[in-house]
Amino acid sequence: MKIKLEELYKKKKIMYKYETNKFEQFDYKIVSPFKISYTIKLLENLKKIEIEIEINGSLLLNCDRCLEQFSYNMNINNIDIYELDEFDNEIDLDKETIENIILFLPSKYLCKDDCKGLCPNCGTNLNKDKCFCNQI
Ligand SMILES: [Zn+2]
Ligand SMILES: [Zn+2]
Repeated sequence: MKIKLEELYKKKKIMYKYETNKFEQFDYKIVSPFKISYTIKLLENLKKIEIEIEINGSLLLNCDRCLEQFSYNMNINNIDIYELDEFDNEIDLDKETIENIILFLPSKYLCKDDCKGLCPNCGTNLNKDKCFCNQI
């Protein structure tokens, strides 16, 4: 989804909502479609824009401890300020959305806070099963 700057120059403020379950060049699997809402404002002297973004949706991630896939819910609220240069003629909302999603991903992916992970010895998923490695 792209917004023409020309339109923004005319209106000074654009609000835009859309829903998507597909982005180009996005490495993550989307579980529930992303609801995306934008408020784009032209700031003083026409050289800066403020982009207020709200993103809600969920992705499939792999847990860093037990390696199981889990669905991760994202509720992002963010405001970005951009300086426009003379070559800019549109704002790519998908690109902006992807950048925000990646920015707000956790540094560690955990299926749950107390994920027990895999046994380093036999590889059993300790969330689901017990192993006897520690009992010898
Ligand atoms: Zn896990
Ligand atoms: Zn074990």
